[in-house]
Amino acid sequence: MNPDYGIVIVGAGVTGLTVAALLAGGDHSERLRITVVDAAARPQHNVDEEVELRVSAISTGSAGLFDSIGAWQHIRETRVCAYEHMRVWDEADEADGPSTLRFDADEFGIPQLGFIIENTLVRQAVLRVLEKTTVDMLFRSTIKSLGRVGQRYRLELDDGRLLDADLVVAADGARSFVRDSVGIVVNSWPYEQTAVVTHLRPQIPHRYTARQRFLREGPLGMLPLADGRISVVWTTTPAIAALATQADDRELGSMLTEASDHVFGDLTVAGPRGSFPLSATHAQDYVLPGLALIGDAAHAVHPLAGQGANLGLQDARALAEVVSNALERGEHPGDRLVLRRYERKRKGANTTMLHLMTGLNYLFASDSLLLGELRRAGMRLFNVSGPIREYAVRVALDAGRR
Ligand SMILES: Cc1cc2nc3c(=O)[nH]c(=O)nc-3n(C[C@H](O)[C@H](O)[C@H](O)COP(=O)(O)OP(=O)(O)OC[C@H]3O[C@@H](n4cnc5c(N)ncnc54)[C@H](O)[C@@H]3O)c2cc1C
Repeated sequence: MNPDYGIVIVGAGVTGLTVAALLAGGDHSERLRITVVDAAARPQHNVDEEVELRVSAISTGSAGLFDSIGAWQHIRETRVCAYEHMRVWDEADEADGPSTLRFDADEFGIPQLGFIIENTLVRQAVLRVLEKTTVDMLFRSTIKSLGRVGQRYRLELDDGRLLDADLVVAADGARSFVRDSVGIVVNSWPYEQTAVVTHLRPQIPHRYTARQRFLREGPLGMLPLADGRISVVWTTTPAIAALATQADDRELGSMLTEASDHVFGDLTVAGPRGSFPLSATHAQDYVLPGLALIGDAAHAVHPLAGQGANLGLQDARALAEVVSNALERGEHPGDRLVLRRYERKRKGANTTMLHLMTGLNYLFASDSLLLGELRRAGMRLFNVSGPIREYAVRVALDAGRR
């Protein structure tokens, strides 16, 4: 039987691959012909090689989603670091002072707060799942143009091939070509911050603790890796980031030892490094007839709470559910009213997270004495208010879960 509907997913990042796996494994998948197109080469993860530069904090909810599509076992068996503790503090305070926010997995009766995983490993694990399906994968293929032809979209690849789609899923990242080509307006708020990313060997063991120190220029996130190193995401001004990028290993190690307030003793650079300019973006519309945006194509948030990929995974789950329900009811999966159900499910939650991250970044970056006092009072209050802490932890843990 020929499939009834063609779905083209543009982008084989974490969100694009996951929505492909959810659609391919869902009810009525035999009625779908799914193609995933990505401009880059197929990602290759090799466990014998160095931990890659880009790692993400993945919530237990997102790990559950990977488990549901059959990708988690491969990730778990290959290389992950489960973290059990989290400490967040302000540069004006001591690392373990009364205002430090503390979260411990055992306090909540759970084995871990989340996992630190290499981005390529996640993608490889989902690709292994997709290999057992009928999904077509086209790597090194860039979408050059797209337009409406009758009720469908026609997409042109850089080698001249044409793909017709009843539904286009734009999962092509924060600078989405698809989103811009169809004229969806995107609001953006430049942070004037750059994230410097590298791995370091700490003098004091990380003890499976994720730490974040809020500095005036931006937060310094320190994530534990399975081999005892830590991965840092240092958000700072573009000028300091440029210095950090050009510094030799010894200088960069000293800069980060200072920025971390010596919480790990001396830090030694022990890995690659990179830098990422940051901005928040949010598409005004997530859907058009026959087209839906997911992941960073719809919204890019500040990395300070490690939520970007987790939000994209929730989009993937919501869109796959909406499409599956539409097929069940005999509706066209690209119908605008069908796709609006997806937009209603996700836009509000993403808006809240985007504003929360932007607000936190502003609050902690402020020099104002009054805001500084309010911030510390708020953190102390948060530490002693059982239900609010519990609620916040549940929200963070569940990111990626329904
Ligand atoms: C420094 C930093 C740290 C972060 N840490 C975390 C964290 O700890 N936890 C977390 O949850 N999130 C984190 N994030 C956010 C997270 O990395 C992103 O939200 C996530 O990777 C977005 O995934 P995506 O699949 O939507 O898009 P992307 O990963 O950007 O994938 C888009 C894909 O589309 C392809 N593409 C683009 N244009 C075209 C085209 N025209 N034709 C074909 N293909 C195309 C690209 O090749 C790419 O593979 C961090 C981000 C940064 C910058």
